[in-house]
Amino acid sequence: MKKKSKRKYVFVTGGVLSGLGKGVTAASLGVLLKARGYRISMQKIDPYLNIDPGTMNPYQHGEVFVTDDGAETDLDLGHYERFTGESLTGSSSLSAGQIFWDIIKKEREGDYKGECVSIVPHVTKNIRKQIKEAAKGSDIAIVEIGGTVGDIESMPFIEAIREHALLEGPYGTVFIHLVPVPYLAAAGEYKTKPTQHSVKTLLSSGIQADILVCRLDAGSILPKTAKKKISMMCSIPKKAVITNPDANTIYEVPLILEKQGLAGAVLQKLGLKEAKPDLSLWKEHVRRMRNPGGTVKIALVGKYVELKDAYLSVAEALRHAAAKESRELDIMWVNSEDIDAENAGALLKGADGVIIPGGFGSRGIEGMIAACKYIRENNVPFFGICLGMQIACIEFARNVLGMDGAHSTEFAPDTPYPVFDILEGKDRVNIGGTLRLGAYPCALCPSSKSAGLYGRGEIEERHRHRYEFNNKYIGLFEEGGMLIAGKSPDGSIVEMVEYPEHRWYVAGQFHPEFMSRFSRPHPLFVGFIKAASGGKG
Ligand code: GLN
Repeated sequence: MKKKSKRKYVFVTGGVLSGLGKGVTAASLGVLLKARGYRISMQKIDPYLNIDPGTMNPYQHGEVFVTDDGAETDLDLGHYERFTGESLTGSSSLSAGQIFWDIIKKEREGDYKGECVSIVPHVTKNIRKQIKEAAKGSDIAIVEIGGTVGDIESMPFIEAIREHALLEGPYGTVFIHLVPVPYLAAAGEYKTKPTQHSVKTLLSSGIQADILVCRLDAGSILPKTAKKKISMMCSIPKKAVITNPDANTIYEVPLILEKQGLAGAVLQKLGLKEAKPDLSLWKEHVRRMRNPGGTVKIALVGKYVELKDAYLSVAEALRHAAAKESRELDIMWVNSEDIDAENAGALLKGADGVIIPGGFGSRGIEGMIAACKYIRENNVPFFGICLGMQIACIEFARNVLGMDGAHSTEFAPDTPYPVFDILEGKDRVNIGGTLRLGAYPCALCPSSKSAGLYGRGEIEERHRHRYEFNNKYIGLFEEGGMLIAGKSPDGSIVEMVEYPEHRWYVAGQFHPEFMSRFSRPHPLFVGFIKAASGGKG
């Protein structure tokens, strides 16, 4: 594909309800355009006033997704990366908080030279600038506007994209609007009124939707009459009224949308050439996911298990690996607060493998340690992620090395054996007590399982944590049989441990789940699923 002279923009908005799957729709469109050879960029704009979701409770916001450059972003960025295979940066995640913070700082610094600073034009201009910034290097920029049209919070963003479209001129921009089309059982029909109202709400802000993606219940087909009515009432050509029923897995959505010509409608509206997409690898992975040769049951032990979105990337990375291994994935969500030494075996019964993912704060920690003891003693495949590695080492210190009361100073500041602590040192001066965020290199021990799985000696993985393995215990751990499987290249930070006596016991201080893609599952997850499925991981 030749470089396009003029960049194009796709805006994805949603109406009536939240949770319609705008992120998955935007990511799916990214897949379809990339499969046609277009260079794409993706951006999520969130209307909340937090600077980023890093400070938000997982119950409020679900998982915080971390990019290579260390930005703490919305979980939709995870969908974008997992679908499109592109590694994004902090500029792909924009919040109202960031925009206002920037404006207020500038105002205090006198940048506005006495002007009255307002939403229009100052805020909207700043939003437009950020949209263009994130689009750099792409042929087509896909921008998802969080929230629902008509919300007070979204208004500056909706106004900004209206201005943007005007300034870009004809064929510069396309607006995709997502709406639910509910089926009313009592009336026996699909109701199009919420759709009509939502399109009109958007129109009252000066934006005519070009393409409508109608969300339906599983297995539904929008009757021709309803489609015709929507088309007529909303001024959208019939072929640009796309229906998107609930799919078995989110990874089928690109194929469902492709069949209905979503990408073709977008390209036509942008005056770009249609091309034949190459979706062969994608289709192959979907085929494997749909035709598993058996089930693999993975227990996920954490404290936010009632809210599955808190572990979204971990669950998706497990799904990618299971699809690759032609296994159906069954996740047992186990609340660590329910686990103790007596019931660990009963609660983890039937699990082919156990994963302990990341987390903060002391709630549920002892339950995780009890689970880890059971896993180690019963040779159950184990994968520890960030907090999971810390838990594994604390358990090992207490129960194998006899270090009674061993802990991380995050949970027990006065522990006699601080196996994890905040690292002080010259290279951490600027990090101080704050999080280590983003991609860092790690040198693997050549004899480790991990080096074999990655197929290379040096890797780079994303981090989001404060506490590090306390190097003064390295000798004791090694004598006890724990392998220090990975370290920072300068040797100063322990990044991975493995317990070679065990069937499959691998833990890392980083978050490999952020690097797994549907078409390129993460090697550690693949190794774990293989081992849990009874093979050699
Ligand atoms: N709470 C731990 C730390 O800050 C682990 C963090 C995590 O699992 N992401 O080091």
